[in-house]
Amino acid sequence: MSSQRAVVVGASHAGVQLAASLRSEGWVGEIVLVGDESVLPYQRPPLSKAYLSGKSALDQIVIRSAEFYAKQGIVLRDAKVEEIDRLAGNLRLSTGEALRYDKLALCTGARPRQLAVPGAKLREVYYLRTAADVELIRAAATPGRRAVIVGGGYIGLETAASLTALGVDVVVLEAAERVLERVTAPDVSAFFTRIHQSEGVEIRTGAMVEALTGEGTVREVVLAGGESIPADLVIIGIGVEPNTELAAAAGLMVDDGVLIDSGARTSDPEIVSAGDCTRQEVTRYGTSVRLESVPSAGEQAKVAAATICGKSKEVSALPWFWSDQYDLKLQIAGLNTGYDEVVLSGDPEQDRDFSCFYLRCGELIAADCVNRPRDFMFCKRVIAQRTPFERSELVTAN
Ligand code: FAD
Repeated sequence: MSSQRAVVVGASHAGVQLAASLRSEGWVGEIVLVGDESVLPYQRPPLSKAYLSGKSALDQIVIRSAEFYAKQGIVLRDAKVEEIDRLAGNLRLSTGEALRYDKLALCTGARPRQLAVPGAKLREVYYLRTAADVELIRAAATPGRRAVIVGGGYIGLETAASLTALGVDVVVLEAAERVLERVTAPDVSAFFTRIHQSEGVEIRTGAMVEALTGEGTVREVVLAGGESIPADLVIIGIGVEPNTELAAAAGLMVDDGVLIDSGARTSDPEIVSAGDCTRQEVTRYGTSVRLESVPSAGEQAKVAAATICGKSKEVSALPWFWSDQYDLKLQIAGLNTGYDEVVLSGDPEQDRDFSCFYLRCGELIAADCVNRPRDFMFCKRVIAQRTPFERSELVTAN
């Protein structure tokens, strides 16, 4: 084995894919994957879905088995990387050790945005990003208790669905005028509101949280305007912030994400980065975006590994995402930013399957497809390749 060592910081979707792809791209040196969660890397999407509702155990959602890492010669290190010394090619670990690297990849991901109101540190106030977070929530979420979820985005709504399945009474508080406002059209928001309400979830929009109160343990959520909502537990899902401090302290360019080029190189071409911690131009839209999705983390990681191995690959896949709530699978193709027209196929006021197509100047730029996998596949292709299409195809693609 060559004495060259590649170190990957962050052992989740991006980090694991990057380490695995290094081998398949022909890296023959050492690979060290450093992660600070002290468990075998696991898939994050099931956390708010099957793992929270108790349908999967942690060992069923690992990204790769322990044997895989052993077989591929990928060494897992349980530590936090505290500093990068680019001149010396060294990392300082939380264990006090120094770890030399020849090639470095940063896959540090994101962390939940903190709710900045009085009382946010009371007991029984939770965030949902890690398996450890979910274990705490599951222990607190016993039938008949009342959970208040702050944030009506994907994580908040998936959590509402999973907690409802556990017999918990759920209230979702959304500051905007509708759930999923940042990411979907009004018809899609109205659809998910209807579905959740029919499952017994109370959804309150225009609900701005001003404080959490209680004696040591949270008991009430206080809204602007003074109304108090009783709570046995509170789960906060108000978005994430990228973990960029390590990169910034090392002098790499950061702007709400570690800036990377199409080959996943940071502003130091010797250091690559991938996943939720990055911001990159999406060629299809000519705009720079920080994506928070497993497919995109995987795609960037593959390209980053190729770059380390001296090959030239570029991130080109269309961004896509999914969300599971109850029996509904929402699949999202592309980015809808700047849409000026919406076309619906199906009736979101009545059905449990429909698609919402987003157009800009007549061009299809994105689609939200609920229980419509064929629409999703059709749109992915048309959007990515900018294939001309007839409008009638949108409503008949399914
Ligand atoms: P992360 O998963 O954030 O992992 C980064 C890792 O690096 C973490 O383990 C972190 O502890 C570690 N780390 C950070 N700094 C250091 C350091 N200095 N030293 C050592 N280790 C460090 N995406 C979808 O596409 N579909 C879904 O349905 C979906 N559902 C989701 C549900 C939930 C509940 C959550 C939380 C996310 C969901 N996502 C979903 C988003 C998806 O999980 C992320 O896009 C994906 O995890 C990004 O992977 P990553 O490796 O870039 O970052």
